[in-house]
Amino acid sequence: MSGDGPGPAGRDWRAGPPQAARAAERDRRVGPPRARAAGLVWRPGTPEAVGPDPAWPPVLVAEDLLEAGVVAAFTGRTGGSSAPPFATLNLGLAVGDDLRRVLANRRRVATVLGLAGRPWALARQVHGATIVRVGAAGHGAGPPAADGPWVEARAFGQGPPEGKPPLGEADGLVTADAGVVLAVLTADCAPVLLADPGAGVVGAVHAGWRGLAAGVVEAGVAAMAGLGADPAATVGLVGPAVGGCCYEVGPDVREAVGARYPAALATTRDGRPALDPAAGAGLALERAGVGEVRVAGECTVDLAGRHFSHRRDQGRTGRQAGLIALAPSGTGGVR
Ligand SMILES: [Zn+2]
Repeated sequence: MSGDGPGPAGRDWRAGPPQAARAAERDRRVGPPRARAAGLVWRPGTPEAVGPDPAWPPVLVAEDLLEAGVVAAFTGRTGGSSAPPFATLNLGLAVGDDLRRVLANRRRVATVLGLAGRPWALARQVHGATIVRVGAAGHGAGPPAADGPWVEARAFGQGPPEGKPPLGEADGLVTADAGVVLAVLTADCAPVLLADPGAGVVGAVHAGWRGLAAGVVEAGVAAMAGLGADPAATVGLVGPAVGGCCYEVGPDVREAVGARYPAALATTRDGRPALDPAAGAGLALERAGVGEVRVAGECTVDLAGRHFSHRRDQGRTGRQAGLIALAPSGTGGVR
């Protein structure tokens, strides 16, 4: 792993806390998670290596994209302030957690990503295939193409930057505006991040089995293209999700997704019919012509200390996020 490990550019990334370097060193000794092989790496280290109560939230980031001007990251469950069952980095406002703690958690994530004070764009996720095109307030919100895959351009409403109202009902967001933080919230579903750094277009998609069956991933890629992205030049990142190892489903659900994405068909550890949403999302990205697909390969059910899981925790749990933004200019460190 030494060849593709963190270089100097990775080290000076805004990890912030003084123990970051030490944690990264510890992480290297512990060994690479599967995600590292996929071009994603936990910073300042894997949650287990950093410790149960890290000073700052570890995030799973694509460091090479950072150098290309795109901040793309998946959060875990550690490094926040929420109490059980939302301990500790719950980013979801609609799960019954304390509002102030959720907003504080979001600010902590924004800070470690170098995006403090930037508006968060979220939609009310409904397991469909609608994509919202997001424009920063006052500009970038031009009319959508008549037959575009997105519903319409949306600008932000009132509220703190990390607590804006949802931009309608949708399961994906795209933008060409720098400094807008696109976020999808998950707790087993697959978060998918899209970036064409050259074109300056990014997207985020929430893909559970219903969304996959409805084509939400392809819709996200199409919405990116509508803003000028080239699928062949686009990188698609599939974050932590419930794995085929743990996601037993009934025949109807298996058929709905498996008929479209055979790669999503799986078998649990104890031999029951299952689905692998991340594998389905990966295949969807490839079919949509996305040039580079990376799948984190972390199971949210298995990694209880690292991720929230709706299934494992019987619905009483928090939400992690897939976050992506075109780096705002003038913030230093990111070009
Ligand atoms: Zn599993």
